[in-house]
Amino acid sequence: MTFQELDLIEPILRALQTEGYTQPTPIQEQSIPLILQRRDLLGCAQTGTGKTAAFAIPILQILHAEEKAAPQGPRVIKSLILTPTRELAIQIAESFGAYGRHTGLKYTVVFGGVSQGPQTTALKAGVDVLIATPGRLLDLMDQGFVKLQNLKIFVLDEADRMLDMGFINDVKKIIGKIPAKRQTLFFSATMPPEIQKLANTILSNPVKVEVTPVSSTAEKVQQAVYFVDKKDKRNLLYYILQDKSIVSALVFTRTKHGADKVMKDLVKSGIRAEAIHGNKSQSARQNALKNFKERKTRVLVATDIAARGIDIDELSHVINFELPNIPESYVHRIGRTGRAGASGIALSFCDHEEKDYLKDIHKLIGMAVPVIEAHPYPLSNMGIEKIQDPRRGSSQKTGSSHRSGATQNSGQPQSKPFQGQKGTNAKKWYGNKSSFKGNK
Ligand code: AMP
Repeated sequence: MTFQELDLIEPILRALQTEGYTQPTPIQEQSIPLILQRRDLLGCAQTGTGKTAAFAIPILQILHAEEKAAPQGPRVIKSLILTPTRELAIQIAESFGAYGRHTGLKYTVVFGGVSQGPQTTALKAGVDVLIATPGRLLDLMDQGFVKLQNLKIFVLDEADRMLDMGFINDVKKIIGKIPAKRQTLFFSATMPPEIQKLANTILSNPVKVEVTPVSSTAEKVQQAVYFVDKKDKRNLLYYILQDKSIVSALVFTRTKHGADKVMKDLVKSGIRAEAIHGNKSQSARQNALKNFKERKTRVLVATDIAARGIDIDELSHVINFELPNIPESYVHRIGRTGRAGASGIALSFCDHEEKDYLKDIHKLIGMAVPVIEAHPYPLSNMGIEKIQDPRRGSSQKTGSSHRSGATQNSGQPQSKPFQGQKGTNAKKWYGNKSSFKGNK
């Protein structure tokens, strides 16, 4: 299937060529024709599947056709894309800019945490497409800067995350203020009951498009888990980062404080690292992201919310310094790598307290994450752990002999200083096929 076969107009085809897209991803293949037919859509898909283009391309095509048919006076907002985070909003706006560059359509993006002046200026100049996070949008609507009475296409992006982040009431308020007669495109990576209920109330006779069941993201990413004591995690991270083939790594922590701490430890050890989380100013987050994308920093440490939807081309490694307590977050995290079909590596650190989180993850992804046993910081008192592999209904033995060349004589976990691991004779920590047994 090619983009031409999807009946896209020339200005969009030209832009896609510039982007280097040769063929549509599965969600694009399925969604674009349906959206062009003006159907409501329920898309079960997460970031990394090409879902932004799946809605942005047909929206641009519809609005372009309408503008050609009836050139208007001042521009009015005809499409609204509501998304949970500023980073996602910016990325979606960049996508509209890229795919729509030859259409003459105008878009802008509004989000909180920055002064509203430039946003209201852009709105006053008139836009066809508005990309927004819920809080700032409501604010600007209340102040009369955003008028949505001409809205034709509404996109709710990452609906499940809206719920997780406590935005669902804002979303409902916004939906209550937009025209009832509209086309609605609803995207969510998961479908918890509350999200299903919301979808049922706002969609009209929708077609369901489900490209990536949550478990299958997992399949294209090479995953592994290290059992390690909490106190040794920073040593293990440093040890792993000794591998120079890790050009860039996104490291996840559960808390903002944790992200700062990991970042500081890395910097102290001479590794270029920055942290992003909700306590950082918008400009600090943007800068950190820019430095990471430009490879000025090697490691970006992030919390789940800050990293949601971050789109980094060719990110090779995701490292879960702490496992998420919500198993879906694991899938979102590892989806940062291996994007648009590229292969990626996701490594997780699991301490005693996190074993239940790992079990939940196994249940969700339908497989047991393979264990890397050869590393210098094995979990103390691991004993024989039986971790259920839900695919096979059998048990996978993990632990008890987590030894590397560096530790095999002691059999005891070694607490090494954070610095000075260079001389270790431990086996290479991945790429050892036998370590990935059970990952097929
Ligand atoms: P998304 O799921 O929208 O976050 O997109 C994930 C990544 O895939 C982004 O970097 C897009 O630029 C890229 N992408 C989207 N569609 C295509 C395509 N048809 N071919 C190649 N890359 C794509």
